[in-house]
Amino acid sequence: MEILKIAEEMEMEEVVFCHDRDSGLKAIIAIHDTTLGPALGGTRMRAYASEAEALKDVCRLARAMTRKAALANLDLGGGKAVILGDPAKKPEALIRAYGRFVHRLGGRYITSVDSGFSSQDLEMVMRETPYAHGGPPKGGRGGDPSPTTAYGVFRGMEACLEAVGEKPSLKGKRVAIQGLGQVGRSLVALLIEAGAHVIATDIAAEKAGSCEAEFGTEPCPPDDIHRVECDIFAPCALGGAISAATIGELKCRIVAGAANNILAEEGLEEELHRRGLLYAPDYVINAGGLIHVAMEKTPYLSPEIREIVGGIKDRLVTIFARAAREDLPPLIVSNRMAAERIAAGRKWAALRTDFKSRCYSGA
Ligand code: NAD
Repeated sequence: MEILKIAEEMEMEEVVFCHDRDSGLKAIIAIHDTTLGPALGGTRMRAYASEAEALKDVCRLARAMTRKAALANLDLGGGKAVILGDPAKKPEALIRAYGRFVHRLGGRYITSVDSGFSSQDLEMVMRETPYAHGGPPKGGRGGDPSPTTAYGVFRGMEACLEAVGEKPSLKGKRVAIQGLGQVGRSLVALLIEAGAHVIATDIAAEKAGSCEAEFGTEPCPPDDIHRVECDIFAPCALGGAISAATIGELKCRIVAGAANNILAEEGLEEELHRRGLLYAPDYVINAGGLIHVAMEKTPYLSPEIREIVGGIKDRLVTIFARAAREDLPPLIVSNRMAAERIAAGRKWAALRTDFKSRCYSGA
C-alpha cells in the first residue's frame, strides 16, 4: 500500500496512525482541509477487511466532511477517524487511549460520533480531551445528532421530489431504506408520520423486525433493497450502496440517503445522471448531524438548530437548479460549490497574512 500516494491523491493535510500498546488500539485520524476552521468529523469503528480499506475509507470520509462543512456554511474544516476493530468490543481503556490521540492534535481535529461509535463512547473520549462534540445531552444542548441528520435527509427528500416535478410531500411516496441504525430508524419515524410507504431492511434482522412491529414498515431482504420499485432509494447503512454492480438494478427515481460515500466509486454520479436518476449529494443531504454537533457549544437550542438544518432543502434546490442549468450531475455541482467556498477562504487567509506581514514590516 502506498500510503503517501493515497494521501496525495485525496489531498489530505495530515494523516495520523495511532497505536496504543496497552489497549491494542489501532486507529487512523485523517485531517483533510482546515482552511475554513478546525477539522470536525466523527469516529467510525469497524472491523475493516484490511488496513488499506480503512485508510481509503477514512480519507474519503474526511474529504466529504470538508465539502459538507463548506456547503453547510460552517467555519469548519473536514476530518474523520476510524478505529479498526469490532464495535461490540470497545473497552474503556481503548476509547480513552483514542481520546488522548485526539487531544495531542491540539484542536486541529474535533471528533464526534459515527457508525459503531455512540454518544456514550464519546463521553469517555471527553474525559481525555475537550476536542469532542456529540456526547450525551446537557441542558437541552448536544446529544445524539442522528435524529437531526434524519430530519435533514427528510427535508432534502422534499427538495428531490420538487426537482423531479412532484409536490414536495412524502405522502403516499414509496421509500426504500437500507440500514435501520441510529439515523435510519429516525428517518422511518419521520416518513411514516408524513404518510409515506416505507420498505425497510437491515442486516441485523432484529432491527428490521422492530421497525416492522413499531411502524408497520414493509420488510425486504437486505440484498434486494436497491432493486425495490420505489420513488426514493435511501441508503442509510455504510458507504458503497451504489456500485457498478447495483446501478443497473435500481428501480427508483431518486437516490437520497444519510450514508456517507453512497457511491462506491467516482464517476457513478455521471452514470446516474445519464440514466435520468436524481442523486442528492450525500454530504449535502446528511449535513444535519454536523450542524447539530457544530452548534453544541453555541446558545442555539433544538428548535433553532432544526430550522437551520431545514436549510438543507434550500441548498439542494440551489444545487439541483444549477445542475439542470449546466446539465451536470448534482454531485459535480456541489463539489464545485464547496471548492469555490474553500478557494475564497484561502484567498481571505492569504490577504490576512499579507496584511499582518505588512504591519509588522512597517510596509
Ligand atoms: P449505525 O451503525 O447506527 O447504522 C447502520 C445500520 O446499517 C446498522 O443497523 C447496520 O446493521 C446496517 N447495515 C450495515 N450494512 C448493511 C447492509 N448491507 N444492508 C442493510 N443494512 C446494513 O449508523 P448511523 O449512525 O445510523 O449512520 C448511518 C450512515 O449515515 C453511515 O454511513 C454514517 O456515516 C452516515 N451518517 C450518520 C450521521 C449521524 O448523525 N449518525 C450523520 C451523517 C452521516
